Amino acid sequence: MGTLKPLVDKLREEQTLTHDEFVRLFTDRNPEDSEYMRALAQETAVANYGHDIFLRGLIEFTNYCRNDCYYCGIRRSNDKAERYRLSDEEILECCAIGYSFGLRTFVLQGGEDMTYRDEPFCELIREIKRRYPDCAVTLSVGERPRGTYEAYYEAGADRYLLRHETSSPEHYAKLHPSGLTIENRKRCLKDLKDIGFQIGAGFMVGSPYQTYDYLAEDFEYLKELEPHMIGIGPFIHHKDTPFADMPDGSCEETLYCLSILRLMFPRVLLPATTALGTIDPLGREEGIRHGANVIMPSLSPKDVREKYLLYDGKICTGEEAAECHACLEGRIARIGYIAVSSRGDHADWKRK
Ligand code: SAH
Repeated sequence: MGTLKPLVDKLREEQTLTHDEFVRLFTDRNPEDSEYMRALAQETAVANYGHDIFLRGLIEFTNYCRNDCYYCGIRRSNDKAERYRLSDEEILECCAIGYSFGLRTFVLQGGEDMTYRDEPFCELIREIKRRYPDCAVTLSVGERPRGTYEAYYEAGADRYLLRHETSSPEHYAKLHPSGLTIENRKRCLKDLKDIGFQIGAGFMVGSPYQTYDYLAEDFEYLKELEPHMIGIGPFIHHKDTPFADMPDGSCEETLYCLSILRLMFPRVLLPATTALGTIDPLGREEGIRHGANVIMPSLSPKDVREKYLLYDGKICTGEEAAECHACLEGRIARIGYIAVSSRGDHADWKRK
């Protein structure tokens, strides 16, 4: 054993560490202690969820975006991005296909496309809930006024994903143009939680200028926020962004962060993300071995997949929804887990 075992034990017992201890987890990490933490994280996930993996059908319904985040391939200034927007009928067709596979959560994700304000977007949410009352609807459409979030919730949306990206104002300013602030992100996440959504926050691992101090701040902020879901994945460069020449985040560091998060939040819903599967062909399987318990097969129509390109090399862009779903079920089964057909709500959540 290396020198970190007492810290890992403390993390498991107290579910948090001091700032300096979080930093030490990174500066002093070594293969033996990483494996020790991984095993504890996997054991914790199994103790809480058995070998169940929840599936979420991801519908990338628009790549129009008003924002200009330096890392993202669908940023407003990328005029090489070919823009698209699915019609309501196309979105409902994605849901129908997903439902036939047994999916019971639909995640509507897109850029901050301002054609989707309150109505008629709320009417689409109501229609999905009318057709599939046994399904959860998750939204991931960025920063909106509180009143809009309230309207989405009243229309029937259950969950909202909004990664905080980095909790440090200084780091946030290096990843985003000046109109975007961490204060507003945090305001959005707080509003979403108050309104009654199950919320998902998270960050990129190895994003440009990230330091271990910033990562420690991310863990501290998450402890304070207590989200129901946490989405993390490696930063991967996109050739038509200001960060085209920045190094990618690593699989190893992302897996290490997943294990830390599982020990901090034994019951949190923790996806093994597409970015993790992109940086390493077996990244998502490794994610599950490190404590993740959610996978998000894409339901997006094949002809738009390569247009929803947040980063270079994104996997599964040439696949139909059925192939994507079958592939992921196979991957889950091969490592001894079960892809379950249920909404997979967080244990502590009830709709207000
Ligand atoms: N517009 C929505 C959805 C954003 S896409 C929103 O603002 O929430 C979802 C996530 O992809 C982002 O939150 C970001 O963390 C991640 N992402 C964007 N560009 C990326 C890149 N180049 N590499 C890895 N992840 C990226």
